[in-house]
Amino acid sequence: MEHLLSEWLDVANRLREARRILLMSDYDGTLTPIVERPELAELSPGVKELLRSLSHQRGFTVAIISGRAIADIKAKVGIKGIIYAGNHGLEIEGPGISFVNPIAHEFRPIINVIHYVLTRALGKIRGIFIENKGLTISVHYRNVEQANIDEVHSIVQRLSGSVEAAGKARITPGKKVYEVKPAVNWDKGKAIKLLMRRYGKGGRRSGLFPIYMGDDLTDEDGFRVIEHYGQGISVFVGEPDRPSLARYFLRTPDEVTTFLTLLLSRLQPVPDSIQETETGDMIEMRNPNQDLMLEEPS
Ligand SMILES: [Mg+2]
Repeated sequence: MEHLLSEWLDVANRLREARRILLMSDYDGTLTPIVERPELAELSPGVKELLRSLSHQRGFTVAIISGRAIADIKAKVGIKGIIYAGNHGLEIEGPGISFVNPIAHEFRPIINVIHYVLTRALGKIRGIFIENKGLTISVHYRNVEQANIDEVHSIVQRLSGSVEAAGKARITPGKKVYEVKPAVNWDKGKAIKLLMRRYGKGGRRSGLFPIYMGDDLTDEDGFRVIEHYGQGISVFVGEPDRPSLARYFLRTPDEVTTFLTLLLSRLQPVPDSIQETETGDMIEMRNPNQDLMLEEPS
């Protein structure tokens, strides 16, 4: 893997060929640092503003692809007019797009049953948080005491046998979390492919330049799709000390912010000139023609 910021000049060059940029990103651990309780993972005002400004650029589309339920991720990010994919891409919403994986939809009652079973088996362990997200379930064990973690693993393993044997659901590990998903052939990678097909009809010749950033195992499916497409950037967020299908890495969500800042400045026109005021603040001198646009008298 190569450090994306170190390779920025090369990447900025490649962006020149792009006719449409599709910036797709995971949320937790990518745009926000990992926190003790998932409800506390807040998007900083700076990153929110960056994403909003990027989404307003011509030929630029922003999509957030998360394991959270779609209502949850929409509320967390809170930007209008961008695409949201929740439950690992099982549901997608945005301007001109509304998708729920039909098979996953039929699984809702089964997910409720599994949630009940998991809560009965694990509910007494202190610090466990079993989250029913409608189409999937997250078993968060970040706050479980070290002494009890083996118990969590063995109970989940025991249950996963019967859950998976029935062919109804799959249990996959993540960062201090188990994800229970319907056993459908769908993942973040498939959702990314769906978005790329929508915005890049005609394949690579369409000039679509996809970007995907993520920090966890479920994000590898996304990296695979980007790398297979051949033109774009796949970015693993974290220390590059584990194998990943991503071509680039950024160490922290702070480095992701730096990347977004670079991306925005690459796309925005350079102001005509910059002047320093007496107080030392930099002010932007606008194109003089713009000053002719007077406000309508009220
Ligand atoms: Mg994540």
